[in-house]
Amino acid sequence: MSETSSPVNLTVIGGGIVGLATAREALIRHPDWRVLVLEKEPQIAAHQSGHNSGVLHAGIYYTPGSFKARASGQGRRLLIDYCAQKGIATRLCGKLIVALDESELPRLDDLHQRGLANDVPGLERVGPERIREIEPNAAGIAGLWSPGTGIVDYVQVAHAYADDIRAGGGEVLTGQRVESIREAGEEVIITANTGLEVAARQVIACAGLQGDRVARLSGVETSMHIVPFRGDYYALTPEARPLVNGLIYPVPDPRFPFLGVHFTRTIHDEVWAGPNAVLAFAREGYRRTDLNLRDLSEVLRFPGFWRMASKFWRTGLMEMWRDYVKSAYVREMQKYVPDVKPSDVVTGHSGVRAQALNADGSFVDDFMIAQRGRVTHVQNAPSPGATSSMVIGRMIMDRVSELA
Ligand SMILES: Cc1cc2nc3c(=O)[nH]c(=O)nc-3n(C[C@H](O)[C@H](O)[C@H](O)COP(=O)(O)OP(=O)(O)OC[C@H]3O[C@@H](n4cnc5c(N)ncnc54)[C@H](O)[C@@H]3O)c2cc1C
Repeated sequence: MSETSSPVNLTVIGGGIVGLATAREALIRHPDWRVLVLEKEPQIAAHQSGHNSGVLHAGIYYTPGSFKARASGQGRRLLIDYCAQKGIATRLCGKLIVALDESELPRLDDLHQRGLANDVPGLERVGPERIREIEPNAAGIAGLWSPGTGIVDYVQVAHAYADDIRAGGGEVLTGQRVESIREAGEEVIITANTGLEVAARQVIACAGLQGDRVARLSGVETSMHIVPFRGDYYALTPEARPLVNGLIYPVPDPRFPFLGVHFTRTIHDEVWAGPNAVLAFAREGYRRTDLNLRDLSEVLRFPGFWRMASKFWRTGLMEMWRDYVKSAYVREMQKYVPDVKPSDVVTGHSGVRAQALNADGSFVDDFMIAQRGRVTHVQNAPSPGATSSMVIGRMIMDRVSELA
């Protein structure tokens, strides 16, 4: 078993955007610390951070006063400045949330009020004419226009964070799956699948889809579970891309933490439609056919899943139907951009969300961390976790005691 040489002040488990932002922040605050990031995959940002919509959210949706609401506004501003310094492209292409009929107007008004309470810059309630000016091909009788919402490539951001960590004297080790965490006096001993053993003064686990399992490794028992929800995207063909200028979103169903199938123009000038939200049969499975028996059986044995499913089984079945039947998915897109034809649409990538679910079947909506001794676990870092990553890193470092 190999051992790292000098004492490690902080080990971060997980090389996604949250873990990397946290390690980077630690080195900004404590340049003399030895900081190590351990990532199980051969490369960083291999899961949620590399499989998302690439949207810089402006903070419209979130409960005023919640961490999410504060963190997305501030996080978006910080990230735009950071990307400018690093030469990473961002574009404030704006987001249009459209109400298709009168029944959606009260929810649109609620969103407007939330957006105002959250100080979303430039938020504007718009009618059909303005909708057609912003997005000539979008349907809708009314909308909310957020000109400050933008796009970025979060994989590029994750790599820039990792470069900063290395430049600050830290290390990012890939191919290191943490398999045990135990406290021994003033240190935490971490062992990885390769035999690497690290003694660290502090550990912060940002393990995304594996967050509950990594928490259990250090004896944190929690009543919530990670339930994976896959989001499948379609992409518009190059000829059909001019149908969408920026971001076109539905009015979301407030019962769910997901935003609904939307159109996204990416920073690389593709146009995606998605993601939907279907139960994934594998936490890290990106194809509709992927199945991991351990992952699925854990979901099925969790009472919280059945409580959630008993409330939302109809919606869940509809989502699955649309997922497996392309024409049904295209019909959903046509509600928002009527000129999209089935021939304009090709299968795109998928992402899997680490959605924390409580034992009573409710979704954990806000960011959540748990601390036990010298080990801190991020237990829920849902969207807009990438937008907010710098603020999340700061918040975690504020909460982590000065033991190291
Ligand atoms: C479909 C989808 C769309 C989204 N769209 C947006 C968006 O447009 N804008 C936005 O702001 N947010 C979006 N999000 C949310 C955002 O991507 C996440 O909040 C963010 O990426 C979470 O980062 P993370 O580092 O916590 O998790 P992850 O990126 O999942 O990273 C966790 C890392 O931990 C590693 N790990 C796990 N277990 C171990 C172990 N035992 N040892 C070592 N390493 C381990 C994993 O391999 C992984 O690399 C979206 C998410 C999804 C899934």
